[in-house]
Amino acid sequence: MSLTLVLNCGSSSIKFAVLNLQDKHKALSGLAERLFEAQPRLTVNQSGHTEELELSGQGHRVAMGGILQILNKLGLREQVAQIGHRVVHGGERFQQPTRIDEEVLAQIEACVPLAPLHNPANLLGIRAALEAFPGLPQVAVFDTSFHQSMPPRAYRYAVPENWYTQHGVRRYGFHGTSHAYVTQEAAQMLDLPLQNTCFVSAHLGNGCSIAAVKGGRSLDTSMGLTPLEGLVMGTRSGDLDPGIHAFLAENLNLSLSEVTDLLNKKSGLLGLSSLSNDMRELEQAAAGGHPGAQLAIEVFCYRLAKYVAAMYVPLGRLDALIFTGGIGENSTLVRAKTLGYLTWLGFALDADLNRVMIRGNSGLITQPGSPPALVVRTNEELMIALEVQEVLS
Ligand code: ADP
Repeated sequence: MSLTLVLNCGSSSIKFAVLNLQDKHKALSGLAERLFEAQPRLTVNQSGHTEELELSGQGHRVAMGGILQILNKLGLREQVAQIGHRVVHGGERFQQPTRIDEEVLAQIEACVPLAPLHNPANLLGIRAALEAFPGLPQVAVFDTSFHQSMPPRAYRYAVPENWYTQHGVRRYGFHGTSHAYVTQEAAQMLDLPLQNTCFVSAHLGNGCSIAAVKGGRSLDTSMGLTPLEGLVMGTRSGDLDPGIHAFLAENLNLSLSEVTDLLNKKSGLLGLSSLSNDMRELEQAAAGGHPGAQLAIEVFCYRLAKYVAAMYVPLGRLDALIFTGGIGENSTLVRAKTLGYLTWLGFALDADLNRVMIRGNSGLITQPGSPPALVVRTNEELMIALEVQEVLS
């Protein structure tokens, strides 16, 4: 049996999974977290059984050593044949997943100015994995590369040209692995050849983005230079007037980095509701009459519907609107409200089907005659493992 280890390294955590691509089964998954706190922990799930361990020190190297130990203990280490790393920003350098060598590491490093929070953590994880698993082929899979097929009219901002040519200021888009996976799944579900399909894919998790995908290629998406642009998210504002930066800086005496921090961490659903970034909690509060929670859900769905309509422009026609991510896969309310804003495009929700599509169920939620809206369960780990296999074969 040959297994693929998939690693997603953040600044203070490493998410990991071990997959068997023969049957697409997840043999193991886990999380090493609080890597720079007093007692970093490693949690491992295998077949519904959870085990917690204390790591012997801080940082990514120790955590990777812990993951290696676990694989050894479970007798899986020898079967891991390849490793896939989720890397957030590949700039324009990486159009597809790429096998890692020193040159590739240097190029990921060169993308750090575009993702100063994420790429350094991804690099720490890759270096720790290269040390812990010497000799195993390792592949970087980028959140951005799926969107490299966007044409300039979609990715360029209307700003001075040298911002783009000298500093790379353009729209890149993120969540590429998820948009790629769910559009492939949707084509299968509808029994359509992928190359003939036109999908709008809405990935709604803590981060949210939408993409127009034609023939399996991204033509436009809502996230930009950074993952802050576009839809309302858990704690991120999404679109706003760029003039707000100067307004806040001048009137509240905030620095640019303080403003950026507020827009990333205190805005979105949390900012609007003054209650929570968690859609489940907001739905409960809204049902109980909480005005902030009600408004947050309204703004979330209205913005989403506007973006669905906008994504018709690059596609020209629609084979299905796809809902995915924790909110897209589970929130019957968000799906119903969003489609409610789109009845003029012909969308007609089937309330019974909508109610059933939760907790891992996938399928159609619209009535016959409506443009199809589908719930599709995303599986970024599996997609990364599949991409790794394709690069290495
Ligand atoms: P991440 O982007 O961190 O992977 P997820 O894709 O798991 O996050 O999505 C998390 C979001 O999904 C949260 O806002 C959570 O409240 C929401 N969510 C999960 N289950 C439900 C549910 N049953 N109803 C409404 N929202 C849900």
